[in-house]
Amino acid sequence: MYCPRCNSLLEEKTINDLSGSIQIDSCPSCGGTWFDKGELQQIENLVELSIIEIRNIPTKKQQLEKLKCPSCNLHPTLSKHQHQRDKKVVFDYCDVCHGIWLDKGELEAIQKDNLLKTIGTLFKKMI
Ligand SMILES: [Zn+2]
Ligand SMILES: [Zn+2]
Repeated sequence: MYCPRCNSLLEEKTINDLSGSIQIDSCPSCGGTWFDKGELQQIENLVELSIIEIRNIPTKKQQLEKLKCPSCNLHPTLSKHQHQRDKKVVFDYCDVCHGIWLDKGELEAIQKDNLLKTIGTLFKKMI
């Protein structure tokens, strides 16, 4: 599978979690990540301290650039969606295979938000 943004060959990566492991495809060149159907929902539940990073979301112009699905043979154009928890995060969604492309920084932004929420919940319980 090739990167829809820069055409580099995507590398398979495994992310381990208590509930199992998730296989994702990530671009060594631009740092984007491809999720097959359902994988993003799984990964959003992962909480790791290492994910606290400075936001590095691409510019609006980059985000709104049309990309082609790396997974489907006919390469349909991915549609743009705003993440429901973070309106600054725009992800590319394939209506055919239901895969999701996230640019570098977007996954971190989603995970960080999740982590902060988790800490917030713990805080409330303590008081
Ligand atoms: Zn790339
Ligand atoms: Zn597709």
